[in-house]
Amino acid sequence: MCDPLRSSLRALRVRRVLPMAPDAGILDDAMLVVQDGRIAEIGPYSLVRRTYDGPIQDLGDKLMAPGLINCHTHLELSHLRGLTVSGKGFAAWVRSLLDSDPEALDQASLDDACAELAACGTALALDVTSRRPAQVSGALDAAGVDHLLLLESFGFAGAGGLDLPPGARGLSRDFLERRCAVAGHSLATTKPESLRAAYAWCAWRGRPFSLHLAEHEGETEFLATGQGGFASLLRERVVPADFTPPGRSPVSYADSLGLLGPLTLAVHCVHLSTPNIRLLARRRATVCLCPRSNAHIGVGRAPWERLRDEGVNLVLGTDSLASCPDLDLWNEARFVLERFEGRLGLPEVVSWMTRNPARLLGRDADLGTLEVGRLAVYTMVPEALAQHL
Ligand SMILES: [Zn+2]
Repeated sequence: MCDPLRSSLRALRVRRVLPMAPDAGILDDAMLVVQDGRIAEIGPYSLVRRTYDGPIQDLGDKLMAPGLINCHTHLELSHLRGLTVSGKGFAAWVRSLLDSDPEALDQASLDDACAELAACGTALALDVTSRRPAQVSGALDAAGVDHLLLLESFGFAGAGGLDLPPGARGLSRDFLERRCAVAGHSLATTKPESLRAAYAWCAWRGRPFSLHLAEHEGETEFLATGQGGFASLLRERVVPADFTPPGRSPVSYADSLGLLGPLTLAVHCVHLSTPNIRLLARRRATVCLCPRSNAHIGVGRAPWERLRDEGVNLVLGTDSLASCPDLDLWNEARFVLERFEGRLGLPEVVSWMTRNPARLLGRDADLGTLEVGRLAVYTMVPEALAQHL
């Protein structure tokens, strides 16, 4: 029996729980006993209450789920909500982003964005950062959102080894090791040697290696031929004159560089052939879908159904406020549920925001499910989504 006299002990009762543990189903009229921040017991109220005689907090007629993991944000762009062009394609969106002063983040916008993450039940965010990692980390800490900062390599100017962004200078080794991973921006914007070095850095530490991959047609065309609607922007700003296109699809090129494996977090993956999807599945890569961002920018819609059917590990991200109206991951889930062709139940899409990313991060002993021993980090499913059960 739990000892209710211990101040760290508390108990919760709630109408329904989606524990997300394999084969756990849905618990009706559930009770959780929490000790030292972890779940000591979880099960039917009628059973668990027999082993607990302290006060019980009743959370009411709600559906509880594990705390969410947002796998793709750019909090450094939080001042750009509603300021970029919509539906005109990637090159037009990038130009509008560059015109809107992307480096002018203010603290209030950052704090608001972090509060928005916390309010929808985000337990952990994977945030791509290049200029202000310490500031972003501080704001997330203040909002109570755990995080992994993805320090982003960008450009072709680096010497060829690990190419950390400017904002990483001055970070302590301890901070780098505890709170960070190294990411690549994309195959068309980052030196291949830097991408390989970032991947090796992550692989050595068991961290996810994040890369924007196959997000838009311009990227595909540029890598295949060096031409297309995105080529002029790339050559104007990033890519050296002597760049030779690999003549491959983004997924195939990433694989040829050794960038696809169980720690790969391939973000977007909108433009994929069936062999691309099968290769991602074979390499056990994770694909992070950002459906509302793709819709806002106008790059198309990822093949959610085929990715799911081929067994690719799927997770969700909101992307930044420069391409998404809010950072509420439940709205991302709703967007997918309402457009998915075929059966996609709420538990499956919740797994994309909980269990799947927790496993990728090696955090599944803490997060991703509501089971005995896991952290008692939970959120409530919005009513509009509960109908998809
Ligand atoms: Zn992104």
